[in-house]
Amino acid sequence: MKKTYKIDVDCANCANKMEQAAKKTEGVKDATVNFMALKMKVEFEDGAEPAAVMQEVRKNCKIVEDDCEIFL
Ligand SMILES: [Zn+2]
Repeated sequence: MKKTYKIDVDCANCANKMEQAAKKTEGVKDATVNFMALKMKVEFEDGAEPAAVMQEVRKNCKIVEDDCEIFL
């Protein structure tokens, strides 16, 4: 399952950090951040609960870049 989320981040470098943090989150199969569009596309593992996984993705992104936001 794939879902797209609106994000807020200040630069392409931080967007890349968010992408790496999202990819490492349990339940995430793949994640892509588009800095120009301020969107994060997340592919979830089979059986993962997107709402719960995204809470963790948001938490992990804030660890690497406290100035970012994912609108859930
Ligand atoms: Zn930045």
